[in-house]
Amino acid sequence: MLLPGDGIGPEIIAEAVKVLEAVDKKFKLRLKFDEELIGGAAIDAHGVPLANATLEKCRTADAVLMGSVGGPKWDGLDSSIRPEKGLLKIRYELGLFGNLRPAILYPQLADASSLKRELVAGLDILIVRELTGGIYFGEPRGIRLLESGERQGYNTYVYAEHEIERIGRVAFEMAMKRNKKVCSVDKANVLEATVLWREVMQALSKDYPDVELLHMYVDNAAMQLVRAPKQFDVIVTGNMFGDILSDTAAMLTGSIGMLPSASLGKDGRGLYEPVHGSAPDIAGQSIANPLATILSAAMLLRYSLSEARAAQAIEKAVGKVLDQGLRSADIYSEGMSKVSTVELGDAVVAAL
Ligand code: NAD
Repeated sequence: MLLPGDGIGPEIIAEAVKVLEAVDKKFKLRLKFDEELIGGAAIDAHGVPLANATLEKCRTADAVLMGSVGGPKWDGLDSSIRPEKGLLKIRYELGLFGNLRPAILYPQLADASSLKRELVAGLDILIVRELTGGIYFGEPRGIRLLESGERQGYNTYVYAEHEIERIGRVAFEMAMKRNKKVCSVDKANVLEATVLWREVMQALSKDYPDVELLHMYVDNAAMQLVRAPKQFDVIVTGNMFGDILSDTAAMLTGSIGMLPSASLGKDGRGLYEPVHGSAPDIAGQSIANPLATILSAAMLLRYSLSEARAAQAIEKAVGKVLDQGLRSADIYSEGMSKVSTVELGDAVVAAL
């Protein structure tokens, strides 16, 4: 199921579809595509950011590939029908509790990072963020009026053991296929919910004797990510800490336009999307970088369709295109060839 969404969403999804069609032909995958609206586009058409009929179609699809949602046109709407609600709803309704965000620095782009080349060259971190619990969903929540007449905002940070265990398992399983190191990030010195988080991770680690488990407070993790990011292999953390740390990790790689993500449920189904937003400032100009979405399509093939060969072929083709010196504006540097969204997509297809 394709959900292009808003802003640059339709432009980058079109390129990812071209690439999927190319691997479909090459590996005889027999992919079938369906397309629906989400976010602001769905609000304009149906009055809601995610129509029930769209949600039902997503439930029956093997995987969902999304562009991005949101934009200034819908910023003034009531928070209950904002474009982002569509995204939160689909994650929640499909039970997509595990967000995988790789932060990989292609050696060709090492100079685009805000950190020194030697600190980031060869960086390959996987952040595993819990996505359907924690303070973003905890009840009670709201803004209430106190007796004093002052307003008070409040949210609830909650995690049940099973929520911690299932995201922990994702992290340990991923680590088994990588460098066998898990860093669990919490704030166990202040928040009881994360004392439990730490205990559950510790207990779970007994099932994975080959994986080294380390615990780190979130403030230290933020510092270590910009001090010596290559010390990490897999980082596992809750919804809010993961939101913040994965954006920091994203910037280590130079451009948010290069980073894919996967949100996985229990049965292997998943939603795949670039880490970046709808970039309304550059929408419609064919200058957006489609590679994050193309790499998200590769993750879709790997994790939801078990087509690792096709996924690898896409990842290799992206590397080849970077070797050829082709760059969208966000990753452009002197001496390279600046190309449009469509040209970059075409180049990946040609490299395949
Ligand atoms: P953004 O990621 O859309 O843009 C931040 C900056 O990065 C902008 O300068 C943009 O031009 C640039 N950028 C982003 N993607 C790019 C790409 N593929 N190629 C080249 N440059 C790219 O974040 P924002 O500006 O904070 O948010 C814009 C809108 O997107 C808001 O409505 C926000 O709510 C929404 N948003 C949606 C998602 C999502 O759908 N998952 C995530 C984040 C933000």
